[in-house]
Amino acid sequence: MDKKAYIDPAICDGMPTCMVKFTCPVGAVSQKRGLLGGTASVDKSKCIGCGRCVAACPHKAVKMV
Ligand code: SF4
Repeated sequence: MDKKAYIDPAICDGMPTCMVKFTCPVGAVSQKRGLLGGTASVDKSKCIGCGRCVAACPHKAVKMV
């Protein structure tokens, strides 16, 4: 099975300017509080496993699992 992105909620700082969210080409990353930020998470049904988000996170909160 292909790997999908996972964002560790213990590491994600929930910045409204989340680069992971803006980097994802298929819009699989969302934040619980929308424009105000909040812990980011990945919709596994949308994720295509490209891995761009891993490099985009400055806190290294994203892993491919
Ligand atoms: S692996 Fe690619 S498609 Fe999946 S969440 Fe990360 S950037 Fe989006």
